[in-house]
Amino acid sequence: MKCNAAFKKWEKPYLFKEIEEIMSGMSGAESERVIPLGIGDPDLPTPAAIRKAIIREHQTCYHGYPTVEGRRDLREAIASYYHQRFGCVLSAGEIMVGMGAKTDLFDIPHVFADPGDTAVILDPAYPVYCDAVLFNNLEIAFLRGTPENNYLPAVDSSEIDPGKTSLIFLCYPNNPTGVVATRSYVSEMIDFAHACNAVIVFDIAYVDFTPGEGNGLGFSIFELPGAEEVAIEVGSFSKPFSMPGDRISWVAIRNPQIMNCWRRYRANRDSGASNYEQAGALAALTDPEVALEVKKNMLIYKNRADILMDGLLKMGLQVYGLRNSPYAWFTSPIPDSKSAVAKFLKEAGVLLTPGAGFGPAGEGFLRATLFQPEDRLREAVNRLASVNF
Ligand code: PLP
Repeated sequence: MKCNAAFKKWEKPYLFKEIEEIMSGMSGAESERVIPLGIGDPDLPTPAAIRKAIIREHQTCYHGYPTVEGRRDLREAIASYYHQRFGCVLSAGEIMVGMGAKTDLFDIPHVFADPGDTAVILDPAYPVYCDAVLFNNLEIAFLRGTPENNYLPAVDSSEIDPGKTSLIFLCYPNNPTGVVATRSYVSEMIDFAHACNAVIVFDIAYVDFTPGEGNGLGFSIFELPGAEEVAIEVGSFSKPFSMPGDRISWVAIRNPQIMNCWRRYRANRDSGASNYEQAGALAALTDPEVALEVKKNMLIYKNRADILMDGLLKMGLQVYGLRNSPYAWFTSPIPDSKSAVAKFLKEAGVLLTPGAGFGPAGEGFLRATLFQPEDRLREAVNRLASVNF
């Protein structure tokens, strides 16, 4: 058997697969005791109206191949969401429905970069950007985020060659830090993308995940001047609508040349998201019952965020995020985040994610999710506080 050289660049297993395997390697009793705060998998059920729409579609329609662009009604609903939520006027033709943001993000470097080009990636970041870029034999230029720069790291032009840069990955509200960018920061990155003739990928998987009331501070890159020519925005139904198992997402592209390349790529690569999952996504955006249920869920998440925030602050840790994302990003009690995770797991039975898994700048930090009921979260913070380092 032969594995290609790009595959071999993946030195470590996928971060969340490693976490999954820690849990599945445990005995039944051990794993029951563990409170898993490692993976960002929403625990609240998918709103009933979404599930009903999926079942209805499945039962009543013949299911041939879907169209690769996605159903027109869903793309129109996404376009009106852009108008209502961000004040951006997009047409259905500027949207393509995808089969999960992870897949969309992983695929983008296949189309918009050549081997040897540079991809600019936030550090720390959702690991898929790096994995995708390595798989395409690109070089990575990390933008090092720290609490001091509010996780909004500027481009250092002495280190990044604009002539070689073809992709820039940004994600706000951010996984893992939960930080929301300022518009002026993203505008600077748009200017940089223009200077490099690069595509800027803006991941808004968490833009509507705001524990509490209101819309949060997140925004679409298309609210900003200059984005239209260079941006690909990637959105997901997984987190706010508790639909991670449905594998449904969208990509918004306003530059017709970029859109033509993406459409062509997708037509060769796959056959689109299933019609019934698209019916679920349509209900997510248009059924008023869903809006009410999501609002209720965000209040549940808010109470959980308060519990987690209080507990971690009482431990004397610095905590970021939580208000605009489902994650607490906090200082590790010891610099080696993997050892801290192992100790918390062994002595407290709480599974966290090591910051180092999100890139070099993540070392010294830990991430915990809100995706456990309140009583389990309370128990988790009590147990975490009982561990002595
Ligand atoms: N983008 C970010 C920043 C994420 O954290 C995740 C999942 O955790 C995704 C995208 C993937 O979303 P999807 O479930 O649509 O593949």
